[in-house]
Amino acid sequence: MASSSLDPRHPDVRLKALNDLSGKVSIDRSFQIRLYFNSGNEMLRMGRLFLKERNYEKVYILYMRYVTLFLEKIREHPQYKEADPAQKSAVIKTCKDIFPVLEDLKNKLKSKYEEEYLAVLEKREQQKKEEEEAEARRSEGKRLEFQKSLEDRLAEKIQSKLSEMEERQSPKDTDKSNPMSLRVSSSPTATPATTPVERNSQFSLPESFNEPGIPMVDRSNKPHGLFSLERNEGFKKIIVPGALTLRFLELAKSNTERNIETCGILAGRITSNNFTITHVLIPPQRGTSDSCLTEDEEKLFLYQDEHDLITLGWIHTHPSQSSFMSSIDLHTHCSYQLMLPEAIAIVCAPKFGEVGVFSLTNDYGVDFIAQCKTTGFHPHPTSPPIYEESKHVIFEDKAAVKIVDLRY
Ligand SMILES: [Zn+2]
Ligand SMILES: [Zn+2]
Repeated sequence: MASSSLDPRHPDVRLKALNDLSGKVSIDRSFQIRLYFNSGNEMLRMGRLFLKERNYEKVYILYMRYVTLFLEKIREHPQYKEADPAQKSAVIKTCKDIFPVLEDLKNKLKSKYEEEYLAVLEKREQQKKEEEEAEARRSEGKRLEFQKSLEDRLAEKIQSKLSEMEERQSPKDTDKSNPMSLRVSSSPTATPATTPVERNSQFSLPESFNEPGIPMVDRSNKPHGLFSLERNEGFKKIIVPGALTLRFLELAKSNTERNIETCGILAGRITSNNFTITHVLIPPQRGTSDSCLTEDEEKLFLYQDEHDLITLGWIHTHPSQSSFMSSIDLHTHCSYQLMLPEAIAIVCAPKFGEVGVFSLTNDYGVDFIAQCKTTGFHPHPTSPPIYEESKHVIFEDKAAVKIVDLRY
């Protein structure tokens, strides 16, 4: 296999890119350490779902992050020393169990990439061949043109020679309508008039005349569906039930009236090619006019575990402000999006009648916020944009949603 370390389709390059992506785990020291243990469970749960879907890349990324988190990064957390030893040894055991799976996934991905790369090389080769063939056809066209003019001149000569002979012979013996018939004069019925011409090499056509032409390229041999070789690396869409925001606002109403924020977790499932939000889980929480902190996430994680729900984002109200992402919102959202690049944040601003669905920009915002170590409300540069309205969201009126209030 040709090696080119710069070819983005080369298996080694793709594996490296995957590994780089997998290493993107950072610890925010202001979060409770148990949140990391919980998010570890979430990674495993998502991993299992993706494994069922045979989405090996996503599983690989999740498991690599799990291993990076628990064998390495978690030790930087100030609460690590006091963390429950049973929990610590449990995650280390899980890491050990994950290693052979990772190895297997890596081999699977490697052979998948190699196969795809071969197809890419083949496709490139095919394109090159087609270009060469087109070039060959162009020069063959020129050659034929030249030959044609040669033939025309020869035919002319034959014709004039014939006319000349006709003048000397009886006209009824000669087929003058078709000069080419002279060439099939070996036929026993050939008239005597043809014989001298046939023997006269001066009038035989050049060898190349009878040469079969260079075969034309059969375009129907071109492989079909070239684009099916391309990987679809795009986002999955997130289906949001149409009634979700109104139902959430109803539930949040009493808080909103007292100028207190309410937040909830958007949870759901993978269905065919999409994620579908099926539940809004309202964890125990403490809200103020411009913030909302979840408490006792255990309840949340237990519910999700029990119902096999993955976290697809979060929703919260701005009781007195418009719909936008505050700096704290951005930091909160970053951990969701690091876990799942498709994760969304829905911000409801009932006072302004606004609902926004936001994501950090994947090419810039996620890295920027993951690296910003400032806490509390603080300004971020506005350009390039750190977040944007999510483009991969579909509101679906018919989709059902369950609101689960875990606060009491
Ligand atoms: Zn907010
Ligand atoms: Zn920041």
